[in-house]
Amino acid sequence: MIPYNRQSISEEDIDAVVAVLRSSHLTQGPEVAAFEAALCSYCHAPFAVTTTNGTAALHLALLALDVGPGDRVWTTPNTFLASANAALYCQAEVDFVDIDYASGNLDPHQLTIKLETAKRVHQLPKALIVVHFGGNACQMEAIKAVTAHYGIALIEDAAHALGSSYSNGEKIGSCHYADVTTFSFHPIKSITTGEGGAILTRDSGLAAKARLLASHGVVRGDPDRQRDEPWQYQQQLLGYNLRLSDIAAALGHSQLQRLDRFLQRRRQLAQRYHHALQALPVDPLTPEAELHHSAWHLYPLHLQEEGHIRQRATLVNQLLAAGIATQVHFIPVHTQPWYQKLGFHWGDFPEAERHYHTTISLPLFPDMGFDQQEYIIATLSRLLKTI
Ligand SMILES: *Cc1c(COP(=O)(O)O)cnc(C)c1O
Repeated sequence: MIPYNRQSISEEDIDAVVAVLRSSHLTQGPEVAAFEAALCSYCHAPFAVTTTNGTAALHLALLALDVGPGDRVWTTPNTFLASANAALYCQAEVDFVDIDYASGNLDPHQLTIKLETAKRVHQLPKALIVVHFGGNACQMEAIKAVTAHYGIALIEDAAHALGSSYSNGEKIGSCHYADVTTFSFHPIKSITTGEGGAILTRDSGLAAKARLLASHGVVRGDPDRQRDEPWQYQQQLLGYNLRLSDIAAALGHSQLQRLDRFLQRRRQLAQRYHHALQALPVDPLTPEAELHHSAWHLYPLHLQEEGHIRQRATLVNQLLAAGIATQVHFIPVHTQPWYQKLGFHWGDFPEAERHYHTTISLPLFPDMGFDQQEYIIATLSRLLKTI
């Protein structure tokens, strides 16, 4: 079976993890600090705080921005559940901004219109979470202009986009536009720590608050320095335990050394898909012009023909029977039972729903062979003719 995505683990990765197991620190030792410094240096951001996973990174970003009960958080419906759930953890109210169908990314034009309405009825959101779908950067210039105009905090959920850059060449994670950028190191993402995540920011206060909240809200020692009591610690906030272990950080740091090689391979494979698929009735979501900007976490495409769209499940099942696992990204968040209970309905965000009905993501991962890719293309091409 060819998976739709898969981690790439080397002997160096294994050695790095084993070395931690032989050391005295299993958590929050030198590896966490080294991995955080390496992330800062890779993304050109001054502060990084690693977390237990990407969902925790989103939760922590919102907590550090003081999002709480009574606040509103907006995001895209074309994302994994975590982007919206993180706001619910903070007891904020969630709403969505529809996407631009062609790219699958949040549509700045719809954002502008929705914010104008929200302003009139005094219901502006406190924060907006954008998602770089598949690794292809959102139109951050336009999004930042409008969020800055209304004083809304901007979070980039860059779970798909470690290694991606904006069209000006600057790395996602640099926080050129956003207050905070979050990453996930789940095995299907650009690099992995098993479970893991991080937030990056240029704001030292926000970074310090995030670090405090990720570790019980506790400051070690006697902050007043009045007592000679080495056991002292003070809880200053209601924090959580969202810390990454040294075992995981060592794996992440080792993987980060190979990120550019992973990206090169993903880009090579994406370009080959682009060329081969030109002959088929499908539209790739990320244009070839973005070849060297996207981290190509996914290779999503839209089916063009009504018949194919109606028969998508048959297509996916026949690919599966041929040993090719594809995926659908994403079932729009607002259509989930939990969100329907909150008052959302099918029909609320028509572009995200149209995208959902027409999309499939083809396998793409660094260790995929050209022979495997040729087999996928030939099989897809054959099935599109017969379905
Ligand atoms: C994977 C993912 C997350 C969650 O990351 P985890 O590390 O699995 O918690 C959040 N947002 C998006 C868009 C994702 O794809």
